[in-house]
Amino acid sequence: MNTSHKITPMLRQYLEIKEQYPDTILFYRMGDFYEMFFEDAEIAAQVLSITLTSRSAKDEENRIPMCGVPFHAVTGYLGRMIKAGYRVAICEQVEDPKTAKGIVKREVVRVVSPGVTTDDQLLDAKVDCYVSALTINRRSTKNWIAGLAFIDVSTGHFYVSEVIFSPQHLSPLIDAFTRLQPAELVLSHTEMERSSDLTAQLTTHLGKLCLTERPDFHFDLQTAYTTLTEHFGTTNLAGFDCESLTTAIASAGALIVYLRDTQKSDLTHIKRISPLTDSEYMIIDDASRRNLELTETLIGGHRDGSLLAILDQTKTPMGARLLRNWLLFPLQQHEQIEGRLTAVQELIHLKKTRSSLRTLFAAIHDLERLCSRLVLGHGNARDMNAIKVSLAQLPDLRALLTACSAPLLHEIYTELDPLTDLHQLVDTAIHEDAPVSLREGNLIREGYNAELDHLLVLLRDGKNLILALENSERERSGLAKLKVGYNKVFGYYFELSRSQSASIPDYFIRKQTLVNAERFITPELKELEQSILTAQERRLELEYSLFLDLRDQLARHSRRLLDTANLIARLDVLASFAETATEYRYCRPTINNEESITIIEGRHPVIEKSMEPGRFVPNDVQLDQKTHGLLIITGPNMAGKSTVLRQSALIVLMAHLGSFVPAESASICLVDRIFTRVGAMDDLRRGQSTFMVEMNETANILNNATKNSLVILDEIGRGTSTYDGLAIAWAVSEELAQKDGVGIKTLFATHYHELIDLAATNTNIQNYSIAVQEWNDSIVFLHKMVQGATSRSYGIQVASLAGVPEHVIARAHQILKNIEQAEFTRHGHQQSVSRRQKGKEQPHQLPLFTPPQHPALTLLAAARPDDLSPKQALDILYQAKALL
Ligand code: ADP
Repeated sequence: MNTSHKITPMLRQYLEIKEQYPDTILFYRMGDFYEMFFEDAEIAAQVLSITLTSRSAKDEENRIPMCGVPFHAVTGYLGRMIKAGYRVAICEQVEDPKTAKGIVKREVVRVVSPGVTTDDQLLDAKVDCYVSALTINRRSTKNWIAGLAFIDVSTGHFYVSEVIFSPQHLSPLIDAFTRLQPAELVLSHTEMERSSDLTAQLTTHLGKLCLTERPDFHFDLQTAYTTLTEHFGTTNLAGFDCESLTTAIASAGALIVYLRDTQKSDLTHIKRISPLTDSEYMIIDDASRRNLELTETLIGGHRDGSLLAILDQTKTPMGARLLRNWLLFPLQQHEQIEGRLTAVQELIHLKKTRSSLRTLFAAIHDLERLCSRLVLGHGNARDMNAIKVSLAQLPDLRALLTACSAPLLHEIYTELDPLTDLHQLVDTAIHEDAPVSLREGNLIREGYNAELDHLLVLLRDGKNLILALENSERERSGLAKLKVGYNKVFGYYFELSRSQSASIPDYFIRKQTLVNAERFITPELKELEQSILTAQERRLELEYSLFLDLRDQLARHSRRLLDTANLIARLDVLASFAETATEYRYCRPTINNEESITIIEGRHPVIEKSMEPGRFVPNDVQLDQKTHGLLIITGPNMAGKSTVLRQSALIVLMAHLGSFVPAESASICLVDRIFTRVGAMDDLRRGQSTFMVEMNETANILNNATKNSLVILDEIGRGTSTYDGLAIAWAVSEELAQKDGVGIKTLFATHYHELIDLAATNTNIQNYSIAVQEWNDSIVFLHKMVQGATSRSYGIQVASLAGVPEHVIARAHQILKNIEQAEFTRHGHQQSVSRRQKGKEQPHQLPLFTPPQHPALTLLAAARPDDLSPKQALDILYQAKALL
């Protein structure tokens, strides 16, 4: 700012406030507008495409840039500022300009930022909006702990987690951080300086991340701990199972202080803090989440085409958000999964109950966000009415649950508070067609408050009351000609002809004498007049304060409201699972303890839906530690390899959500992590080479997969020379098949046909292929996975199907023939050709891929026959035989 501006009192006030909110755009309320000045105005004018004007300071030379937006349309403008990544401080006039002495007092009433907003218009109803905080405890050069905290202020959800990682290997932190997709990250001043590389990476992973800096002492453990215990009114955090998460507590406390400062509220709707512990949920890393298209498609990031879009048939916004959350945090406890499955099964069975429940859900608004708005002091009368309509459904909803016996549904029934008292309170208090504005009246119903009722009578019947007074005065005084009149100078008065005015009562006060008449007032008349004239003003004031009072009353019940909202959300998700299962013919998976996965006639939930009914070809998949640890799946491009891989992962994942699955039957064991190494296309955007991304993902799998994990590999080693790639693929497969002595359940689709030889030497590796039928010179995709390998890629046929010109195809055939001929000559036998035709039956062993030498051979190689006695030779022979 140019300090040479001469400063008016208004400008002084503006600058004082701006100084307290330096990293925001200050929306400064002036009458019906929010005005911005100086640099703020320049930024806002550009972001909002509004005209930049200027305002004179005391001298005309130094004009101040300014722009403004009308207050009634502020939400739209706010939204655009937030989307552009800015924080906005809303500064209101906090006293009545009419009664203000000097400049009107103004205060910032809240700060809106990308991660902290409660406005419906700025939020996606189906997605939580998190602000996060991060503290890093650098214990040694290799061992760092990240303490993460996440709050969705619009719903009150509050999570913490800790992640161990090393500066060389950030993916555990990135995975944990991006799972909840926060819009904003709060860091201490020092961390902001130290972690610029990390925050840059987080930002690229999330697309956009608003960074907010806060003082270091907010992240001090003791301060943070006290903040949290004071907030929850507890002596410690043991009840939330967070006591030991000290790094996360530092972040959590800092986050609460940040929200208090920006929301000017004590955040009473944030009732609990929940740790996100890895052992409780299946871990799906960031890459797998995207590869499997759980919440959005890989290309374009659309919701349509994701698993979420198929599963989500919820009717309430909180149900939609909870389903998304379940999807990102699949369960790990057998009992909990079965609990959900049993509830879903019952809801499938009770078709009528489900349909009636869903009709009631449709009338229920976003209770979570409505409740948060009440607590934060933003709720208006329409919000109240939305709460009322929602609560009105609860008694019926609860009654419907009496038909259910599944334990989870019964639990919801017993826990569901029908909140009839709150419904009645709002119903008796709030006008059905109350406006959004709190200052225009028409908020409070008649009969709620005696004083308001009186004011309303005055307003409606003011004239009649005056006439009634005229009547009673006539009777009292016996002056039959007494008449009431009104003028601007005296207001209401009684008028009498001059002849009559001699006999007026003594409490009549003479005000005016005309030629023929005289005018009087009485104290009672003036009092009534005063009441009528000020009634409107008093009514607006009273309605406003009654409304605030009611809002506070409801806010005090926020715990009950939020608990009910959560139960409705759970019920909505379970009913949604039941709906999807019915509509798409899913089956209930069995959860087994045998560490095996058996899927009979499995389908891909998303691809199946995009096809005509019955067109999708179902496939069986068997994975177990003993014989089917790693499946090598070969087949031409477009045969359906990726589809089988992905559908298997999705079916396993869905089972862990407690959802039915697209298969005829499925028996699934508990899986601790799903790893995928699929296309790397989307990472190219992040400036990493395909090969590097592939190898990062492969390293992550090899380092972190356990015997309970499921690994999906869709080709590895493509980004390098054929032999390098093949060698890596071979070694990785061997490692996966043998890791920790039992191997890791893996589906591996590959074009390296050499890999099929692995099955000859590893009992838990099996070869599968996706069948195609040859038809003249072309092929037909059968999409059916069959046991045994294929050794033909049909690349040229696929190219032909893809529309590559005929003469190029013919030439390719010719070249292929030449290559095969040359190979034949080089090897001097038919092996390479016969391999193509027979596949697995004739293992082809390139010297490069000879399996590790058999111990019997090692023994024999070490023996020196010339130095051995016949007995020793015989012993060695026995030993060698024993090793076979
Ligand atoms: P690949 O990985 O072998 O190149 P994909 O799995 O990507 O092949 O499948 C290619 C296309 O084939 C899919 O987009 C889909 O249209 C079709 N497809 C795949 N599997 C099936 C199936 N089981 N039933 C019907 N169509 C399928």
